[in-house]
Amino acid sequence: MKKNKFLVIGGGIAGVTCAEQLSSLCPTEEVALITASKLIKAVKNYQKVSRTLEQFDVEERPMIAMETDFPNVQVIHNKLTNLDTDKQVAMLADGGEIQYEMVCICTGARPRMIAANNPFVLGIRDTESVQTFQKRLHNARRIVVIGNGGIATELVWEVQGCEVLWAVKDRHISTTFVDPGAAQFFLPHLNKEKPDTSHEPIKRHKYAEQAGEGDPVSADGGAALGPDWTADLQMRGITKTGHAVHVDYEVEVRSVMSPEEFRISGKPTTQPPGFSTEQDVWPVYVELTSGSVYGCDFVVSATGVVPNVQLFLQNNFTMSNEGGIQVNDQMETNVPGVFAAGDVCTASWDWAPHWHQMRLWSQARQMGAYAARCMAARDQGDQVHLDFCFEMFAHVTNFFNYKVILLGKFNGQGLGNDYEILLRVTKGVEYVKVVLHDNRMAGALLVGDTDLEETFENLILNQTDLSPFKDHLLDPDIDIDDFFD
Ligand code: FAD
Repeated sequence: MKKNKFLVIGGGIAGVTCAEQLSSLCPTEEVALITASKLIKAVKNYQKVSRTLEQFDVEERPMIAMETDFPNVQVIHNKLTNLDTDKQVAMLADGGEIQYEMVCICTGARPRMIAANNPFVLGIRDTESVQTFQKRLHNARRIVVIGNGGIATELVWEVQGCEVLWAVKDRHISTTFVDPGAAQFFLPHLNKEKPDTSHEPIKRHKYAEQAGEGDPVSADGGAALGPDWTADLQMRGITKTGHAVHVDYEVEVRSVMSPEEFRISGKPTTQPPGFSTEQDVWPVYVELTSGSVYGCDFVVSATGVVPNVQLFLQNNFTMSNEGGIQVNDQMETNVPGVFAAGDVCTASWDWAPHWHQMRLWSQARQMGAYAARCMAARDQGDQVHLDFCFEMFAHVTNFFNYKVILLGKFNGQGLGNDYEILLRVTKGVEYVKVVLHDNRMAGALLVGDTDLEETFENLILNQTDLSPFKDHLLDPDIDIDDFFD
């Protein structure tokens, strides 16, 4: 059996970045990449926006493209069925085995689903699940979206021509990313018409994954979608309405009922205010903890993800409370020579004061790249210093057509009540929030084109004492850059 110096498991952003970096750092060594999906995710148009903020597109590419660009990488389209860390052998679904010296696990995460086996409940994770969603939406008059994170937020904004009932467990929308104030800022956009972007060019190539019939490997699910997953998708239902969204706050799902179960329950349905469609029988009914019962065409379960670790439960990896494989500051698990990166792992080193882990494409890329550096260094009997990207949390995204930038402890994470908030809001234009701890900036949330990100990033990193300036920090008539020059 041929022995590879390096083995990477997973064709998502973390795995592909890790294999690419290993290939560049160790051009004379063999790198094997196992992926259950035929299409792999490649990072394109990478731009460093500031010291910690980065932007890139994610391109789905055929596996062969990687072997052309990185000749010492062999991409194996197969499914890992077992990892024997004593013998350092990876076992594959087709009976094949791969021997390795060092391995990096990048198997991502899977959606945490309510009523997972109900055919009227969909999860959204990869290209295939989005295609299924689009197809079902095409004939839908009303859907119920459960969840309050990024996917749910993007979805309710994208869907048109179909009533959307959005059930959130919190007091405000989009809690994973924004505070109640910013949620309030976004609310008027929930039922606004979306600008027509169909004339804009598509930023990346897309290849459709032809999940061959009966192909056990592809059928198992691909990599998570990238940041622009909604960019070129038509999400349109059957009705003529534009946006029609109703939010039910502080609710969870009590039950998902078939028409027959609903009939037997004898419960009445609830008509959301402003919704016009009602029909005698819906394909599925959702009962919420508020007692409301909504009929709809289907339900989208967007209630977060869980690390994809089932395969490794028999290994002796130390797992975190939230189910990820724990890694140290060298991205190494407790089993020597086994590394992990991306959604599957839990960063278990002492975090820098303004960094925290969130399962995002930016961190998947950073962890994949850093894991490769750690593996290459280990091969030389060396260690590397924790990368600067783990010094401060930084993320750019887009909600309701607004640029959203999250820096440091943007929601006061881990600070209890021991923080101050500075706020500047211009309705419909921008929402700027600064979190101060001991008169120093601990985090910021910037919605709109504020142009403040670089200055705020420096203030967080440098921990400048802001007591003399804080009353003027967000004064729109003061050029903040001049302040700190
Ligand atoms: P994945 O991309 O999940 O890749 C895992 C890989 O492992 C896949 O190729 C899979 O086929 C392979 N694999 C799994 N098991 C096996 C096995 N047994 N054998 C072989 N291969 C296996 N993040 C953002 O930052 N911004 C966003 O706007 C955003 N939007 C999102 C929207 C959606 C709908 C979803 C689902 C996620 C979104 N995310 C977003 C999160 C982001 O996509 C993920 O954090 C990131 O892609 C994780 O990358 P990964 O490489 O760790 O895992």
